[in-house]
Amino acid sequence: MKNSNMDRRDFVRFASLSAVGLVALASNAQAATPSAKAPAADLPNLELDNPTAKALGYVEDTKNADKTKFKTHTVEQKCLNCRFIQGEATKKRRPCTLFPGKSVASVGWCVSWAKLA
Ligand code: SF4
Repeated sequence: MKNSNMDRRDFVRFASLSAVGLVALASNAQAATPSAKAPAADLPNLELDNPTAKALGYVEDTKNADKTKFKTHTVEQKCLNCRFIQGEATKKRRPCTLFPGKSVASVGWCVSWAKLA
């Protein structure tokens, strides 16, 4: 029974954080500027204190994800295998659809991670 409650809480937390990500994605889609499509080397790093980054639990290294908050996270989940990553696969920093005009670490992670098809 206790595990069932934890699962439900995890789901609610994940769903609410994912909703934040979807809102950010929707609001940023129109705001995407040419700079959002620039090579990641030209983009500033996503700041860890960026409100959306904080809300989504973004970390520069997936190993540092908050395991108490994000129980479904695994270290195999990285920006480089997320459907929202953009740019060249060989780069250490790349653009992300959720954070226009910024670059994320290829080995980074946030709760909006979704497997690249
Ligand atoms: Fe989050 Fe995916 Fe963007 Fe990485 S690439 S910051 S996991 S949405």
